[in-house]
Amino acid sequence: MIVGVLALQGDVPEHRNELRRLLDPEEIELVRTPGALAQVDGLVLPGGESTTMARLLADAGLWQPLAERLTAGLPVLATCAGLILLARELAPGTGGAEPPTFRALDIRIRRNDYGRQRESFEAPVEFIGVPGGPFPGVFIRSPRILHVGEKAVPIAFSGPEIVGVRQGSILGLTFHPELSEDDRILREFVRLVSASQTKRTRVTARRVKTSPTATRVQ
Ligand code: GLN
Repeated sequence: MIVGVLALQGDVPEHRNELRRLLDPEEIELVRTPGALAQVDGLVLPGGESTTMARLLADAGLWQPLAERLTAGLPVLATCAGLILLARELAPGTGGAEPPTFRALDIRIRRNDYGRQRESFEAPVEFIGVPGGPFPGVFIRSPRILHVGEKAVPIAFSGPEIVGVRQGSILGLTFHPELSEDDRILREFVRLVSASQTKRTRVTARRVKTSPTATRVQ
């Protein structure tokens, strides 16, 4: 199993270091090229700056291949700027140019929506399905999730705010799990990647098993 970290900009070393605690070095791939993207079974889209990351994705020839893998169900952990890049809709109002997005997550989101006073803060996060009590949420010029559409499910809350969603095998968070010592969310993601691999292997096995029958029927 190989878990990639999109390594064009942003919190790349932090994610790699966290992954090193959970995986062998050969199971971690820094993704900067379409070839590297093709190798991975799951991908972390880190926090950083979403407009810059969108531009670098296009420059690296990664936009289209990543869009295709997202459509094919690639497990993704998207945090902060990474989450912005997946949103179906960006609400206007932050000023400046908004980045293009992959529209893979059924959410409406506004960049930098916590205002100057609270641009960066820490707050406890209730993460559904992850036992062990509240998670320390580190928010850095975070986007705010304004609306969750039918296809996505809220999974993380900070007070009344939705700060994390899941849609299929995509986990999207407005905060930075890689910046706290608590690796429960990353573990959860690694489990998700591993489970999606097992599923794929089973589908392949079934295909192999059924093909002789199919031949006989013909
Ligand atoms: N404010 C950044 C953006 O709009 C996101 C911040 C982050 O990833 N920590 O892209």
